[in-house]
Parts: sequence; C-alpha cells; structure tokens
Amino acid sequence: MYKTIVVGTGPAGLTAAIYLARANLQPLVIEGPEPGGQLTTTTEVENFPGFPDGVMGPELMDKMRQQAEKFGAEFRRGWVEEADFSKRPFKLKVDGLGDLEAETIILSTGASAKLLNIPNEKEMIGRGVSTCATCDGFFFRGKKIIVVGGGDSAMEEANFLTRFATEVRVVHRRNELRASKIMQDRARENEKIVWSLNKTPLEVVSGDKGLIGLKVKDNETGQEELLETNGIFVAIGHQPNTGFLGGQIDTDSVGYVQVKPGTSETNIPGVFACGDVQDSKYRQAITAAGSGCMAALDCERFLEHHGSNIMHVEGQAVQ
Ligand code: NAP
Repeated sequence: MYKTIVVGTGPAGLTAAIYLARANLQPLVIEGPEPGGQLTTTTEVENFPGFPDGVMGPELMDKMRQQAEKFGAEFRRGWVEEADFSKRPFKLKVDGLGDLEAETIILSTGASAKLLNIPNEKEMIGRGVSTCATCDGFFFRGKKIIVVGGGDSAMEEANFLTRFATEVRVVHRRNELRASKIMQDRARENEKIVWSLNKTPLEVVSGDKGLIGLKVKDNETGQEELLETNGIFVAIGHQPNTGFLGGQIDTDSVGYVQVKPGTSETNIPGVFACGDVQDSKYRQAITAAGSGCMAALDCERFLEHHGSNIMHVEGQAVQ
C-alpha cells in the first residue's frame, strides 16, 4: 500500500515526485514505455528557465529523475491497464507489476503522438514512417523526407531533420500554418525545406523495397499526386493518454482530464492530474512541471486532512 502513486514520468510526474519525496511521502513512480515523456524525444530545450545556454531534453529529464530519486522516490517500470477509483485505497492493475494500492493517485501520463489514420500508415511505422524526428532522423542521412503538419512541432521537426536530409518537404492540409511566427520564420529561412501546402494526405505508398511516398490531394484542384520520399514524419499533435481510466475521471471530448480550475483535483477526491494529460492549451515543459508541483501539494494536503479515515458509501469515496 502506497500513500501515493504517480503514473507517468514527464516533467509533471517527476516534479510531483520530487515534491512528494521531499515531503517524506515515499511515492511510487510508474514509468511507462517512454520514460521521461515527450521531452526525451526532443532536442535542445531553449525556454526552460535556469538554462541560459539551453539543455537537451533527455538530459533535463534525467536530472529531474535523479532529483526525485535522491529524495526517496521509488521508480518501477510498468503499464497501467486498469484503474479502480470507486473507493479508497485506489487500485491499479499494472502490467509488469501486478495489482497495486494507494491512498492517492497522481495522473501524469501525458499525451501521445497522433496519427493521420490513412491507409498503410500504421503498417509502415518503423519502416519509413515515424512520429519522432529525434529518435529516427539519424536514419535518413542524405535522404528526402516529408514532415506532415503545420504546427510548431512540424516546424521544429522539419528544421531538425535538415541536419540529416537533403530535402525536407512540409505537407500541410491548409494554406496557412498554425505554427508561431518565430518557428515559421526559422523554417521558411531554411533552404532545405520545401512546401506542399493545402494538400490532404491520402495514403502511405510502399512497394517491395519499402516506402515509396505519400499520396496527397490538392484541396483546391482536387488533383492527386504521389510525393516520393524516403521517410514520412507525422507531426500533427498529440492525444492525451487517458484510455486506462475507463471513464471514471471526467475528461473533455478529446480525452483531456478536467481539473477544478486553479487546482489539480479531478472529480474523484484523492486523484489528481498534472501535465499534458490535463492541459490542451499550454503544453509546455515548464507548465507541466508547475502543475506537477501543484498536484504534489494538493495531494499532501489531502492526505493531511483525510489520512485513511475516508468513508465508503455505495462504492463512492466521500469526504
Ligand atoms: P498543433 O499545434 O495542434 O498542430 C497540429 C498540426 O497538425 C496543425 O497544423 C493541424 O492542422 C495538423 N493536423 C492535425 N490533425 C491532422 C490530420 N488529421 N491531418 C493533417 N493534418 C493534421 O500541435 P503541435 O504542433 O504538436 O503543437 C502542440 C503545442 O506544443 C502547441 O501549443 C505548440 O506551440 C507547442 N510546441 C512548442 C514548441 C516550441 O515552442 N519549441 C515545439 C513544439 C510544440 P490545422 O492547422 O489545419 O489544424
């Protein structure tokens, strides 16, 4: 039985773990398949305060993890399959760790890369299609690459991939980019980046020798064309990782956990959420870390006030 279990190890979960461990609550931190979260798939982080020369994403996450461990947080690898929040102690069924119980839970499972959901896309993941430029860019040295998307992620990935590729083609479904001006400007100034705007991706085309290209439709003329390429990087945003909650926690229509404004409290007392899993607006490492701190403090206060003296009425935890 744990006082608290933190699910997820991005900046939110790790900051929560640092605060909880320093408060002597000996949190268990469950690391999923992407320890460190999205920042481990990025390159240099230039806007995290305290690092005037920038810091590499994986290094930043590694340091946060070390900091949490130093104060006594316990880390274990596992995949939460099911959660039972009907009464305290809460129960988690974790692949790799079995059934776990905790007085409180902090949800910091973040969000995962979205796919286009077009034919042959899933089949070609790892065989020319990727959602992570930093992970896979290296394999495309001297090759032609397509990046799909018009947001900051797509601009960042396109710029990054020009380190390896001879040409990076940005394919976006509208004429206007969604990305911030500074990111757009950087991409537009990069001579290796070419543009296919107002084109809807239709199909990932492959043959005996692997990936051939991306079939797209011009939204104005309706004309279809095959853009030949050696690699396709899908950078169209993220989906919150809330599937395992089984509808027990209130979410918005997309799946982002809803917290009470100004707090990390979910609809279940004792279950808190922080980071990208509850933030579809800011989605920054620093805001995730800040919300992780809030979740830890909310959790500490909850335990102080409620301890284990919670009553159970008809399967519902009540204060
Ligand atoms: P985003 O801002 O939601 O952009 C997603 C892009 O993908 C949009 O251009 C969207 O097109 C396109 N898209 C979505 N679904 C699509 C589909 N099914 N088919 C084709 N295109 C599709 O996501 P993001 O770029 O990942 O950025 C997320 C947040 O992180 C933003 O707040 C961003 O500012 C931040 N971020 C910041 C940095 C940085 O500052 N260094 C880097 C990365 C991300 P439409 O435009 O037509 O909707």
